[in-house]
Amino acid sequence: MAFEGLAERLQGTIQKIKGKGLVTEQDVKAMMREVRLALIEADVNLKVVKEFVKKVSERAVGSEVMKSLTPGQQVIKIVQDELTLLMGGEQSPIKFNTKPPTVIMMVGLQGAGKTTTTGKLANVLRKKYNRKPLLVAADIYRPAAIQQLETLGKQLSIPVFALGTEVSPVEIARQALEHAKEEHHDVVIIDTAGRLHIDETLMDELKNIKALKEPDEVFLVVDAMTGQDAVNVAQSFNETIGITGVVLTKLDGDTRGGAALSIRAVTEKPIKFVGMGEKMDALETFHPERMASRILGMGDVLSLIEKAQANVDMEKAKELEEKFMSQSFTLDDFVEQLQAVKKMGPLEDMLKMLPGANKIKGLDNVKVDEKHMGRVEAIIYSMTKAEKNHPEIMNASRKKRIAQGSGTSVQEVNRLLKQFEDMKKMMKQMTGMTQGKGKKKMKL
Ligand code: GDP
Repeated sequence: MAFEGLAERLQGTIQKIKGKGLVTEQDVKAMMREVRLALIEADVNLKVVKEFVKKVSERAVGSEVMKSLTPGQQVIKIVQDELTLLMGGEQSPIKFNTKPPTVIMMVGLQGAGKTTTTGKLANVLRKKYNRKPLLVAADIYRPAAIQQLETLGKQLSIPVFALGTEVSPVEIARQALEHAKEEHHDVVIIDTAGRLHIDETLMDELKNIKALKEPDEVFLVVDAMTGQDAVNVAQSFNETIGITGVVLTKLDGDTRGGAALSIRAVTEKPIKFVGMGEKMDALETFHPERMASRILGMGDVLSLIEKAQANVDMEKAKELEEKFMSQSFTLDDFVEQLQAVKKMGPLEDMLKMLPGANKIKGLDNVKVDEKHMGRVEAIIYSMTKAEKNHPEIMNASRKKRIAQGSGTSVQEVNRLLKQFEDMKKMMKQMTGMTQGKGKKKMKL
């Protein structure tokens, strides 16, 4: 899972300061020492670590914390804010040309995932933005890159413009732009040639393609698992040809997260998308705030809800979010969410977006069993309204009745109730973290 190591360490640190009613400069110092180590261990660029620690420390010993009624939580909020800013603050949208076609150039080194990402991006543009993309196979050097793009195009039913390996990439791009106009494609995505290393020939070729028609976006594709190498590659590409954004691939396998946390600060170019797997639907829009929240174990309810959007209307989603926040989440909501989640694909991945999910031991080994989910639904359906709204009234005879009614066992009913309780506890922790709780305020 992405950021696993960092998340674990930062959350450990946070636990220590979370409930503090008084945060001294000493506390902040101790915490920041740990944060610093955690970031270095995550392979974050040293200069970036230094600046991050400095900024958080300054704010954490400042008046916004001292005057706060919940100083511990305030410090965590500052860490979250600064992590978000470090990754770019706001989500950076794709820049579309008002005069189509919008031209997107994909650049990067061999093996980073450029061709795969080109396919994924076309898929996103069609599905999410309702565009009619044209893919251009201009990577004439890597063996089979053209074929690979053609296969992806077929799989997605998205046309691919190719002229083989004998025509120069610049000429391919030129003809592709003409073709796009004729065929009314509103986005052209050019898969340019990758190389094993950055060299002058590659950069010159990219500059020449760029000179044909200034692209609206130049996306550099880098492999998150290469850590600081990815950051260096980004810096070189940016200095030499100028990029407008970064796509960070293989984040699904990157447990450290150093590249994701450093690239923006080093290059000042935003991460636009992240690759979370090999499949064509595994490209996610990068949201700095949500990523920060995931790293700090606060979950990513918004992304979860967005994934459900195809099946859940926005009002319902908002309602659900409010219920999460106000902790009035009932077993009925639980079942409703299970059903929505079921439609959203890899359940293991979804579960990890829940607040506190990375504190659940062994979640990485969890394979969600659809049959088991069916049983969970049956159990909840066998409950009365009162039982669903107030599970605390559950006694032995009620449980027996429910088990019989759902064709399950009392143990299974118990297990579900326990899970639900745990989930509610996590919600409580999360709202405590982000809002501060009334009770705590009273104590001070
Ligand atoms: P290119 O040389 O940059 O065009 O690289 P490819 O697109 O051929 O990708 C290289 C390998 O990385 C392929 O096996 C891809 O399936 C894999 N890959 C690309 N993106 C991702 C990702 O986000 N996650 C994972 N796990 N694998 C990826």
